[in-house]
Amino acid sequence: MSVLRPYRKGEIWMGRLPHGSDLLEELTRICVERDVRIGRVEALGAVRRARIACYNQEALEYEYLDLDHPLEIAKLIGNVSLLDGRPFVHAHVTLSDEAGRAWGGHLSPGTEVFACEFLIESFEGEPFERRPEPETGLPLWGDREGT
Ligand code: ZN
Repeated sequence: MSVLRPYRKGEIWMGRLPHGSDLLEELTRICVERDVRIGRVEALGAVRRARIACYNQEALEYEYLDLDHPLEIAKLIGNVSLLDGRPFVHAHVTLSDEAGRAWGGHLSPGTEVFACEFLIESFEGEPFERRPEPETGLPLWGDREGT
């Protein structure tokens, strides 16, 4: 059965991340600072280097890909919910190079901003709390307390 909850639109922030900051950590820091407990994130721009991941569904662990060269953020899309009671950003990115080739995956710490414009939208409603989910080994949204 699907897990879903209704939300209403809340406040929207738009801004620019500092040159040299860590893309995921800076977006998370802003959500913590603004107390965004449930919402969505999008961004575009460029990075100096990137670390993205793909979840190995057999081993139940992330496998990381380090791209140690400049790339465009063609698209970043993500959501905000709670993990251990704190705002947690889950984001996926598509990154492209000078030939238009693209890489994509789960955004991980270690992705360094060259320039980045972002949008964070906070929703009103009961936030999802991430909990360990045995079938996948991932901290996923539960339907209710303890599930
Ligand atoms: Zn992911």
